[in-house]
Amino acid sequence: MTKYIFITGGVVSSLGKGIIAASLGRLLRARGFSVINQKFDPYINVDPGTMSPFQHGEVFVTDDGAETDLDLGHYERFTDTNLGKLNNVTSGSVYQHVIEKERRGDYLGGTVQVIPHITNEIKSRIVGATKQFKPDFQLIEIGGTIGDIESLPFIEAIRQFKTEVGIGNAVSVHCTLIPYLPTSGELKTKPSQHSVSVLRSYGIQPEILVCRTTRPIPKTEKEKLALFCSVPKDAVIECRDMKSIYEVPLALEEQNMAHVILDMLRVEDRKPDLKAWQQLVENIKNSKDTLTVAIAGKYTKLSDAYISVVESLKHAGYANDTKIDIKWINSEECVDYKNCKELMKGVNAVVVPGGFGVRGIEGKLNVIKYARENNIPFLGLCLGMQCAVIEYARNVLGIKDANSKEFDENAQHAVIDLMLEQKNVQGYGGTMRLGAYDCMLKKGSKAHRAYGKDKISERHRHRYEVNNEYIRPLEEAGLVFSGMSPDGMLAEIVELPRLDWFVASQFHPEFKSRPDRPHPLFKGLIDATVKQKKKIK
Ligand code: GLN
Repeated sequence: MTKYIFITGGVVSSLGKGIIAASLGRLLRARGFSVINQKFDPYINVDPGTMSPFQHGEVFVTDDGAETDLDLGHYERFTDTNLGKLNNVTSGSVYQHVIEKERRGDYLGGTVQVIPHITNEIKSRIVGATKQFKPDFQLIEIGGTIGDIESLPFIEAIRQFKTEVGIGNAVSVHCTLIPYLPTSGELKTKPSQHSVSVLRSYGIQPEILVCRTTRPIPKTEKEKLALFCSVPKDAVIECRDMKSIYEVPLALEEQNMAHVILDMLRVEDRKPDLKAWQQLVENIKNSKDTLTVAIAGKYTKLSDAYISVVESLKHAGYANDTKIDIKWINSEECVDYKNCKELMKGVNAVVVPGGFGVRGIEGKLNVIKYARENNIPFLGLCLGMQCAVIEYARNVLGIKDANSKEFDENAQHAVIDLMLEQKNVQGYGGTMRLGAYDCMLKKGSKAHRAYGKDKISERHRHRYEVNNEYIRPLEEAGLVFSGMSPDGMLAEIVELPRLDWFVASQFHPEFKSRPDRPHPLFKGLIDATVKQKKKIK
């Protein structure tokens, strides 16, 4: 039978609940248990796909084509489990479903209410995921902070669910903040006491407290927390800020967090195998060299907007004992080529990530031109690939006004065009080409060498594609189409063989990288950069 672990947050948002939920998942996986994580988001959007990355950070895409919260990226990376549509539940999707049922007449004239109809739907989302994955443990994180009005139906649903499955089958973990007051030189537990008392007023008694803190919590304060919040002493877990998020599982293991939870859930503990994870953390700590990798995009003020790209670069760095310093380049500042050259000084490699809309495009084209002409290792992702094709068409093939229909609907030379299947699509929610599709690799290409196989599957999120009419001329001008859809109709990867690393993909490789198993294209980029730097030395 599946055991349930609910994770809530108190005092402030941005506590890193997602990392804690993912880390606990890793500790259970290390014991040989199967685990899935679920994220409940109390906002009214049906999914984050339509939200600006400035508001929400990255939209993470699963194999089955769900556009989800970025925490699913952490879950997948930490637990090495592929998740899907059922793993992210929003208020919007719950209400949408209930209202659709009401319109169909399914409620037979009854009054439709938050309790029981919305809460029942939330509970059915928990059970739905259990049925699909049949995991040993299901970890469910509730977004937002205890006390928020909008998360109340979720809290009520988990209260009911905990009661229904009974003691020993579900526990609540409450993540909270222990702030340090420099004026009195003390760590303060009062906000956490208040947060737990609000949680209790909703009928949920947390069994475990995870205390986020900048410094060690004295034993006396831990005991105070245990007493006032009614949790066992060994269930007050300290979670200090760490240099790397990948250290968190080990810090939690040191305090026996998984053991304490297993005990509460009446599951016999097993010896965890964390050797590989420990080795990973060793590698992270002992990186010998540093590379500066630029990310040239338009959401550079909020690093969460490209979190999977950043993590993927780091993963490839770990495999090379190399620390990756990210240099954020605002593509709008590269519209002036002189400025672009200035900003690219000291950059060892560059990534042009995905994006939407025309703003900053000319700057991205300049960054790519600079990388191409100066043999700076380059990786283009989705929009970055489309820009690489436009840049090549303009500056090498000589089609001066080559463009994408996304940026100029009347473009005469649209080397990037709207996909045929997208032409009659109405609305913006969940309507792109989404999720995993196969791609065939060209033998002898850099991509083929990096993957070491002929056929791959990668995740997509786009409306536009390379216009096939231009493939021949671009090829004749030296651009290699090293990845194509199995029917040969859709360009998936382009590359320039004569450069150290100039590869760009229509898909998003960043969604499949793992800390201990870097994605081939990111590894290819960093391997080539390390090699190039050695040569120059
Ligand atoms: N805007 C481009 C498209 O829709 C690229 C999308 C992306 O980078 N995710 O095709």
